[in-house]
Amino acid sequence: MLNIKGLFANVEEKEIITGLDLEIKPGEVHAIMGPNGAGKSTLGNVLAARPGYEATAGSIQFKGKDLLEMDTEERAREGLFLAFQYPVEIPGVSNMEFLKASVDAKRKHHGQPELSAVEFMKLARETSKKVDLDAAFLKRGVNEGFSGGEKKRNELMQMMLLEPELCILDETDSGLDIDALQVVADGVNAMRDGNRSFIVVTHYQRLLDYIVPDYVHVLANGRIVKSGDKSLALELEAKGYGWLEEEVA
Ligand code: ADP
Ligand code: MG
Ligand code: MG
Repeated sequence: MLNIKGLFANVEEKEIITGLDLEIKPGEVHAIMGPNGAGKSTLGNVLAARPGYEATAGSIQFKGKDLLEMDTEERAREGLFLAFQYPVEIPGVSNMEFLKASVDAKRKHHGQPELSAVEFMKLARETSKKVDLDAAFLKRGVNEGFSGGEKKRNELMQMMLLEPELCILDETDSGLDIDALQVVADGVNAMRDGNRSFIVVTHYQRLLDYIVPDYVHVLANGRIVKSGDKSLALELEAKGYGWLEEEVA
């Protein structure tokens, strides 16, 4: 699904990713943890080709294709989805229009016809039920006046509608109460189908009780310094990150 080799990347001319390797097979869930400022969000932004984030060396293969050759829209159409840590507001564009446009762009790329307004409405209503979001949110501006939990549920709804092959969730747990966390985790778990892969960036072990990862990686100083199974998350929760820095040194 994803093969990152020797990646170096800059943010605003500053080197943040410093030789990162990561291989993700279809169906796997990889959690990425690590201290603040380690480069976790930068990695997500480089994968999504967010402006200002530039890979300077190394390679990224996505489904056997050179990801670095694709722009943001191509990556999305190919099936990569980045759920933003701080979802953006787009006043004046209704959530419904926004979601339909993104679904239609992807369908077009795969040679499928646009959904009619009625077909999309039906699909959107069903999906909003699954994420416990009132269908009235479809008519509002994208993220306009949404609470933190509502933004996350909306993001989850977008992810469900787009059916991406690789989902990157960046601190999807921050600002969520327990009920919203459960909704997000249930949604993610329902999307696990043996083919779809996930990168879950989180500060807290708590989320990984609900979304059980196949692998846990620690990202520090721009590269992955330790990998393990889900027990590594428990060890980090108990011991913090300091011992790892000593071990790496
Ligand atoms: P994490 O998500 O692991 O907490 P980030 O990837 O957000 O870390 O940040 C890594 C480093 O890159 C930090 O030093 C941060 O200040 C810097 N950085 C991230 N985004 C930007 C940006 N847009 N402009 C300048 N510096 C940035
Ligand atoms: Mg951070
Ligand atoms: Mg971050």
